[in-house]
Amino acid sequence: MFNRKLAYYCNNNLSLEEEYEDIFDKRLPEGKMFCPFHDNTNTPAAKRYGNFIKCFSCGKTYGVYDLLYEFNPGRLAQIEMSINLDKIEMHTRKQKAKRFKVHGIDRSRSMLAILLDLRRSFEDETEE
Ligand SMILES: [Zn+2]
Repeated sequence: MFNRKLAYYCNNNLSLEEEYEDIFDKRLPEGKMFCPFHDNTNTPAAKRYGNFIKCFSCGKTYGVYDLLYEFNPGRLAQIEMSINLDKIEMHTRKQKAKRFKVHGIDRSRSMLAILLDLRRSFEDETEE
C-alpha cells in the first residue's frame, strides 16, 4: 500500500544513484535510459530529472520510493522500521516556494519593510 510519508522521506533523503545501482547492479545512466517499469529493449524512453525519472513511453514518473517499492520491498520495509514516520513533516510545493521568496526582494525598499514582509510570510506559513 502506498505510504505518503515514507515516499516523501525516501524521495527526499535517499540517493537516486545509490538506490538505482543497488537494485539494478549498474550505474544510473546520465542521458536517456531504459524504463524499468515497462518492457523496452530498442529505444530508451526514460530520462532522469533531479531526483526523479520520467518515462516518455509509459508516462510514469518515479523516484526512489517507487523503485524500492517495486524492486526492493525488503529494503523499503527496513527503512520504514528505522525511522519514526510520525516525526516526518511534509512540505507542500507552495510552502517551499514561500521559503525562497527572499530571492525576489525589491531592493528599492527599506530593509525594515523587507524584513517585516519576510516575517509576515513566515507567520502565514505557520498558520497553515
Ligand atoms: Zn516506462
